[in-house]
Amino acid sequence: MPNIEIATTTGRMLVLNAKAIEQFHTGLRGGHLLRGDGGYDAARKIYNAMIDHQPAIIARCAGATDVISAINLARNNGLLVSVRGGGHNVSGNAVCDGGLMIDLSPMKSVRVDPQGKTVRAEAGVTWGEFDRETQAFGLATTGGLVSTTGIAGLTLGGGLGWLMGKYGLACDNLISVDVLTADGRLLTASKSRNEDLFWGLRGGGGNFGIATSFEFQLHPVGPMLGGILIHRLDKAAEIIRFYDDFTRTSPDELGTFVAFVTSPEGERVVAIFVCYNGAVEEGQRILKPLREFGPPLADMIGPMPYVQVQRMMDDGFPAGRQNYWKSNFLKGLDSEAIEVIVDHVAQVPSPYSAVAIEQFSGAVNRVRMDATAFNHRNARYNLLIVGIWLDPAAKAENVKWVRDLWCAMEPFSSGGVYVNYLGQEADEGADRIKSAYGPEKYARLVALKEKYDPANLFRLNQNIRPRAG
Ligand SMILES: Cc1cc2nc3c(=O)[nH]c(=O)nc-3n(C[C@H](O)[C@H](O)[C@H](O)COP(=O)(O)OP(=O)(O)OC[C@H]3O[C@@H](n4cnc5c(N)ncnc54)[C@H](O)[C@@H]3O)c2cc1C
Repeated sequence: MPNIEIATTTGRMLVLNAKAIEQFHTGLRGGHLLRGDGGYDAARKIYNAMIDHQPAIIARCAGATDVISAINLARNNGLLVSVRGGGHNVSGNAVCDGGLMIDLSPMKSVRVDPQGKTVRAEAGVTWGEFDRETQAFGLATTGGLVSTTGIAGLTLGGGLGWLMGKYGLACDNLISVDVLTADGRLLTASKSRNEDLFWGLRGGGGNFGIATSFEFQLHPVGPMLGGILIHRLDKAAEIIRFYDDFTRTSPDELGTFVAFVTSPEGERVVAIFVCYNGAVEEGQRILKPLREFGPPLADMIGPMPYVQVQRMMDDGFPAGRQNYWKSNFLKGLDSEAIEVIVDHVAQVPSPYSAVAIEQFSGAVNRVRMDATAFNHRNARYNLLIVGIWLDPAAKAENVKWVRDLWCAMEPFSSGGVYVNYLGQEADEGADRIKSAYGPEKYARLVALKEKYDPANLFRLNQNIRPRAG
């Protein structure tokens, strides 16, 4: 095994000699990968094909002990570290360039307790895998809308999903989290143990340590009504005005969002995605006015298992495409804002791009604002502009389209942003990170960072900087 050069947090390169690498390798149950090894390229690839980073070492962790070895190697040598869960974060922070990538994706255990209605899942599990195991017992908890997204990154940032109106965010359903801190200690965080850490993990992202497993509360879920209503783009203003009124009084069981998309036939349309998490007959009754209004060009709503609802957007988000996203919470949904979106959607350069308006309601808003690090509980709508295209050479026009629309929507923005939708800090700016955590919570998060990661070992994330660091 040759010596290798590896990046440190100071930007300088360090030479790790063959003996140190060999020792690290033999100490890992899951093994490690270096440039040129079979499997190296597959392991460094993530959802967003725009990210082409090359870690010097990829630690393929099979369990908590492997993660401890990787943390110790990084801390003792001041290495640049990234942490990969499901690899879906568009910022690409999961993969470092030249440093040590701690890859949790081999950690796939899911243990359901059907009587207690709880589950413990490891950090490499995706929502598709999670739902498969819990739905075998008719159970589920709030999770991401695309089945290939990781449970880890999504939950640590908050976690929006179809069930949030009734059960809150993914992080609101956490019972406990096993976390390895920068000094290599394994801590359990819950309402009664390391409560400060538990508060920070529910919205503060990967700043405080590496979560190896998550224990969630489950709920009886499905079968249910789910599907899509399609409307013409030129009807967007009246459709969305009706939608806004309709969802103001809809029950917690109903989850919805609006998306401006291009149909397979190439037509720009407005889609309303729905999921009614309750009895199918009741869902039919509740959804009747929304389904009749317009009327829609197409109504694809029907009874289906929850796992099917959880996959209804998968085809629109395959891994391996170029992605550039920007988002903001909205003050409201007035017709001027809709006009701006419609004008831009009419000019969208890629048929794979979309603009989503995600509805927050019910249990998310009812959790006390100071109960978790997740901010923005008072929000009603989140705007997400998703730039997706195939040809890397088309970057400039696609990024410009996303940025132009985002700027045009600034007057309608509340100023807040969902941490899990943020891009690279260099592109977004440090102020946006503060907007994600919120000014009131930021100081508390900095104090927590200083307690659990004073040297900022975990810095490749939406970073909360310790004052000394
Ligand atoms: C197609 C798509 C659909 C999405 N849908 C939703 C949705 O429905 N709801 C929603 O809320 N969000 C959604 N998101 C955003 C998503 O929440 C974030 O991208 C999230 O970071 C993904 O988690 P991951 O584990 O897959 O990501 P990764 O890229 O692996 O991780 C992201 C970051 O999280 C941290 N991290 C990951 N695992 C750990 C760990 N075990 N311990 C400590 N830190 C860790 C690291 O800082 C890492 O850089 C979606 C994203 C995409 C691309």
